Amino acid sequence: MDRRRRLAILTAFLCAIVATGTIFRMRERSEAQKSASAAPPAAFSRIVDLGHALGPDNPAWPGDDKPFEAVENASFEKDGYFTRKFTSLEHFGTHLDAPAHFIKGAWTVDQIPTERLYGPAVVLDVQVDSRANADYLLSTEKITQWEARHGRIPHGSIVVMRTGWAERWPDTARYRNMDAAKLMHFPGYSVEAVKVLIDRGVYGLTIDTLSVDYGPSKDFPVHHISHGAGLFHVENLADLSALPESGAYLVVAPIKLEGGSGGPARVFALLP
Ligand SMILES: [Zn+2]
Repeated sequence: MDRRRRLAILTAFLCAIVATGTIFRMRERSEAQKSASAAPPAAFSRIVDLGHALGPDNPAWPGDDKPFEAVENASFEKDGYFTRKFTSLEHFGTHLDAPAHFIKGAWTVDQIPTERLYGPAVVLDVQVDSRANADYLLSTEKITQWEARHGRIPHGSIVVMRTGWAERWPDTARYRNMDAAKLMHFPGYSVEAVKVLIDRGVYGLTIDTLSVDYGPSKDFPVHHISHGAGLFHVENLADLSALPESGAYLVVAPIKLEGGSGGPARVFALLP
């Protein structure tokens, strides 16, 4: 081996050491950024309610008869105080789907770990697409575009698909958007996009329509895949216009119903 060759090998070896160190530092930095962006905000400018009030006029899933009732239990006139008794389907109004909704033995609503119920809001805006096509399915390009603007989706995020459909609430006919064949038409998540979001380690999928699976769906593939990966959903979110694409923080507080497949939820956004 001549001197020049030995020198070249030595140089390559030193470059490899330097490169490994750089990659290691880069990885350390990205982990730190990840945990920084996933951490709850120390301060926020205002809090926004992202839920509809639960009541008898909320649009129900087709076929769900008598989804909600509230009757007086005690009155000021008779008892000196006021209480009601209410009955509601678990999946009615602004509500959470627990993984047990589609996966036997998975977390019921009371079992979802608390740390999964809050996180950075990743807002994917598809209002233009949804106006042009009621059967719009979230494309993976929307995720690519979001990440180009805001960086990789942080682990532990909660995804918000903003379709603009809440504008139709509480008009049941417009909200379901059923055709003559009784097939509904509203936007939802695609299987491809959900696979990417699961890969990013998100904890929940939320939407301002009746379901995370789009209206015409009959077999609910998104429910199967995302609940199978331990994700929860929130459906029937209210007006999402106050949310920035990135920078808001979500707090999802479902009813702690023992053994429930889901249930009514309060959802708040903390705005930067
Ligand atoms: Zn549901």
